[in-house]
Amino acid sequence: MPNDVAASHLFPTYARAPLRFERGEGVWLVTEEGERFLDLGAGIAVNSLGHAHPHLVATLQDQAAKLWHTSNLYEIPGQERLGARLTAATFADRAFFTNSGAEALECAFKTARRYHYVGGHPERFRIMSFTGAFHGRTLATIAAGGQAKYLEGFGPKVDGFDQVPFGDHAALREAIGPETAAIVIEPIQGEGGIRSVPPQCLRGLRELCDAEGILLIYDEVQTGVGRTGTFFAYEQSGAAPDIMAVAKGIGGGFPLGVCLATEEAARGMTAGTHGTTYGGNPLAMAVGNAVLDVVLADGFLEHVRDMSLRFKQSLASLVDRYPDVVEEIRGEGLLLGIKAKVLNTQLLGELRAHGVLAVPAGDNVVRLLPPLVISAEEVREAIDRIERAVSALSLASARKSA
Ligand SMILES: *Cc1c(COP(=O)(O)O)cnc(C)c1O
Repeated sequence: MPNDVAASHLFPTYARAPLRFERGEGVWLVTEEGERFLDLGAGIAVNSLGHAHPHLVATLQDQAAKLWHTSNLYEIPGQERLGARLTAATFADRAFFTNSGAEALECAFKTARRYHYVGGHPERFRIMSFTGAFHGRTLATIAAGGQAKYLEGFGPKVDGFDQVPFGDHAALREAIGPETAAIVIEPIQGEGGIRSVPPQCLRGLRELCDAEGILLIYDEVQTGVGRTGTFFAYEQSGAAPDIMAVAKGIGGGFPLGVCLATEEAARGMTAGTHGTTYGGNPLAMAVGNAVLDVVLADGFLEHVRDMSLRFKQSLASLVDRYPDVVEEIRGEGLLLGIKAKVLNTQLLGELRAHGVLAVPAGDNVVRLLPPLVISAEEVREAIDRIERAVSALSLASARKSA
C-alpha cells in the first residue's frame, strides 16, 4: 500500500505520483511493471546526463571500490581538481563543496555576511531577494525565498532577509539600505515558473551592486551546468556575480553542490568559519569531475542549444494551434516552461497518460527539463507525445463548451 499515507512510515510531506521506477536508461525511466516513460523532468534538473550514463556509472563504481569518505580533516585531491576546473570555467577563484543546493546557498549567505564583517561592516548582513524566488528549504533559504506557504508554522522568519517584487527596479533601489550585504537572484526563476531575468536587468544589478558595495549572488542551482545552453546562465548576460550557488545538474544524480566565489568575496571565509562533514567527499568529487568531462567536451553545449531550438520551435506551434491549452512557451536551453491555459496539474496528468514525465512550477507552468543528452529523435518523440496530450485536452475542452 505505497500510496496509503496512513500506512506509510514516511513523513507525509510529499504528494507522490503512484509510480515506482526500477531503472533508467538515458532519457527513459522504466517502472517495476516495465512501463516506459520519457523523462522530461530529469529528477528536477538533476540527471543532466540522463540515467545510468556509462561514464558516470564507471566512475562511481571505480571510486566506490577505492575510497568513500575521509572528512575534510584531510586533503581531497578530487576537490582540488573539480575546484580548479570550475574556477577556470567561471568568474570564480574559490569553491566550497556541499551536498545540496540549500547548503550551497547557506554558504553563499555566510560568505557575503563575513565579507562585510571582516571589512569592518558587521552591520551589513541583510540579503535581498525577489518575489517568486526559490532558494531551498532550510530555515535561512525559506526566509530568502520569502514564500508564505514554505514559512508558515516554522516560527519567526530568520532575520536579515528582505524581498522586493520581481522586476520592480524602483522598489529594489528603495529597499537597499546601509545594512544590505547582498542581492540573491536566479537568472531564470525555476520553481517560480521559468521566469527569465532580462540580460540588461542582470547588468543593471551588477552596476547597482558595484555602486553600493553590495555583493551579487546568483542562484544557479537549477540553471547551471549547461542547462540553459551555456555552462552557466549568467554568461548570456555578461554580468558575473561575486558568489554563486550551484547544485542539481553538477552531480548528475549524485548529491553535490558548490558555492563559488571570487577571491575578494571569499575573503572572510578563513579557517574554522565554515564546515561540512560530507561535503566534497571522494564519491561526489569523482562524479562531479565526470559530469564536467562530458559537459565541457567540445560540442556538448552546442548540442544543448540545438535540441533547445527544436523544442522551442515545435512548442511554439502548439501555442498557435491549441490556444485553449497552451498560453506561452518560456525559458532558455533545456529549461523550458509551458504556461498552461488549463490547470498545469491537468496537463501534467495528461502528459503522464502519454508516457511523459514533467515537473510543475509556479504561475501555472509545466517545466520541461530533459537530460541534456537527449537526442534529436527523442526530442521528436517528446514533441509528438506532448502534442497528443495537448490535443486530447483541447478536444476535451471543446466538447465541454459545445
Ligand atoms: C532546487 C533548488 C534549490 C535547493 O536545492 P536543494 O538541493 O533542494 O537544497 C535552490 N535554488 C534553486 C534555484 C533550486 O532550483
